Amino acid sequence: MRLRAALPAVFALLLAGCSPARELYQDRLYVFGTLVDVTLWDVTEQQGRAAVADLAREFQAEHVEWHAWRPGPLVELNAALARGEAARATPHLVRLIELSQRLSRQSDGLFDPAIGGLVRLWGFHSDDPLTGKAPPSREAIAAWVAQRPSMEDLTIEGDLVRSRNPAVQLDFGAIAKGYAVDLAVARLHAMGIHDAIVNAGGGMTAIGRRENRPWRVGVRHPQGQGVIAALELADHEAVHTSGNYERYNEHEGIRYGHIIDPRTGYPGHEIVSATVIHPDGAVADAAATALVLAGVKDWERIARQMGVTLAMLVDESGTVHMPPAMAARVHFAGDAPPPVKLGAPL
Ligand code: ADP
Ligand code: MG
Repeated sequence: MRLRAALPAVFALLLAGCSPARELYQDRLYVFGTLVDVTLWDVTEQQGRAAVADLAREFQAEHVEWHAWRPGPLVELNAALARGEAARATPHLVRLIELSQRLSRQSDGLFDPAIGGLVRLWGFHSDDPLTGKAPPSREAIAAWVAQRPSMEDLTIEGDLVRSRNPAVQLDFGAIAKGYAVDLAVARLHAMGIHDAIVNAGGGMTAIGRRENRPWRVGVRHPQGQGVIAALELADHEAVHTSGNYERYNEHEGIRYGHIIDPRTGYPGHEIVSATVIHPDGAVADAAATALVLAGVKDWERIARQMGVTLAMLVDESGTVHMPPAMAARVHFAGDAPPPVKLGAPL
C-alpha cells in the first residue's frame, strides 16, 4: 500500500529529471566592441549557459583574429601586404577575402574592405572616443584616392594572399559581424538548438521560431532612440542596419560618419541608414553598408546586383525608401509613421 502510493511521486520526479522546463534563455555578451544578445528558445538553463559560453569563446577568438588595429593575424597580414610580401591567412580570413571580393564587385566597389588605410586616416582605428578631432587634410585623402587600393588587387592561392597594391589594408568592419553571427547560429544548430536569435549591435540572424510564431525584432531608429520598425524574421534569415549615426566624429559642427565612400575618400551623408534582410548575414551586413553609399539614385541597382530583394533606406529628410516586398514586412513603430517612397520590386 505504502509502496503504491509512493510510486506516482517517484515517477513524476523522474519525468522532471528527464525533461526539465524548456523555456526562453537570454544572455548578453560584450564582444566586437558591441553588445551581443543571445536568445534561445526551448532550452534548459543548463543548455543555454553552456551554449552561450561556447559562443563567447568563439566570438572572442574571432575578435582577436579579425581585429583591424590590435595585434593579431589580420594586423600581421596587413603589415605583410604593405611590405609587398605574400602572407598566409587563416581559413576565416581567406573566406572573408573571397566573399568580400565578390560583394565588392557586385556593389561597384562601394563595399570594399581594402580601404582600411582610409578608415585609419579618418581616425576610426581607435578605441578612444573620436569627437573633436580634425578630419584628415584634403591632400592626404587625395593621395589615398590616387592609390586606389581595392579588393581586386588581391590574389589568393591556397592560403597565400598577395596584393599588387601596397596601399591595400584590410578592414572587415562592415561584414565581420554578419559573418560572425551566421557562424554563431550555425554552432547553435550543431549543438541541437534550432530556435535562436543572435543580435550583435543591431545586426542579427534568426533560426527557427519562438514558440509557435516567427521571431519578431526591432530595427533601430537612425535618429534618436528606440525602434523605427518591427519585422518578423523567417528561419535562417538575417537583418542588418548600417548608418552613419552608429559611429562618427564631430568637428566644428560637422559630423563625419564611419561609412566612407572609396570613390571620394569622404563619408557618405545622403542616406542616414540602410536595412537589409537576406538569408546570408554577411551579405546583409555588407549590402547595408554599400546601400548607405549608393544613395537615393543608385541604391536599387546596387541592391539588385548584390542579390538583395528586401531593403529599406532612410534618407536625410527622414523619408523611407523601399520596394513593395519590404513594405509588406515592416511595421512602423509609433503613431506617426514616416513618409514612405515606395519603389519598384528589386
Ligand atoms: P556597423 O559596424 O555600425 O554595423 P557597418 O557594417 O556599416 O556599420 O561597418 C562600418 C565599418 O566598416 C567602418 O567602421 C569601417 O571599419 C568599415 N568601412 C567603412 N566604409 C567602408 C566601405 N565603403 N566598405 C567596406 N568597409 C567600410
Ligand atoms: Mg555592414
